[in-house]
Amino acid sequence: MPKKRKSRGRNKGAKGQSGRVQCDLCGAWCPRDKVIKVTKPVSLVEPQLARDLQKQGALIMRRIVTKNYCVKCAISKRVVKVRAKDDRRKADSLS
Ligand SMILES: [Zn+2]
Repeated sequence: MPKKRKSRGRNKGAKGQSGRVQCDLCGAWCPRDKVIKVTKPVSLVEPQLARDLQKQGALIMRRIVTKNYCVKCAISKRVVKVRAKDDRRKADSLS
């Protein structure tokens, strides 16, 4: 059977199974090695308020948040894009 991707869209290798995690947007259960992880700093203060406080010299801490997205949500949220047929075969990872 022809494969769409070399890794079949996962980062599993020869490992038999991997645990399941929930997508942070839709709640679907996905294999841990298939979800698309996005790590970014998130400020707990509203942007307008943060700007005003920073002008007065306040330090605003940011939390680093990692989110797991299923493939469907990652594409609709534009985290990853649909690639051309040749590009799919080249790179193993989705991100
Ligand atoms: Zn999802």
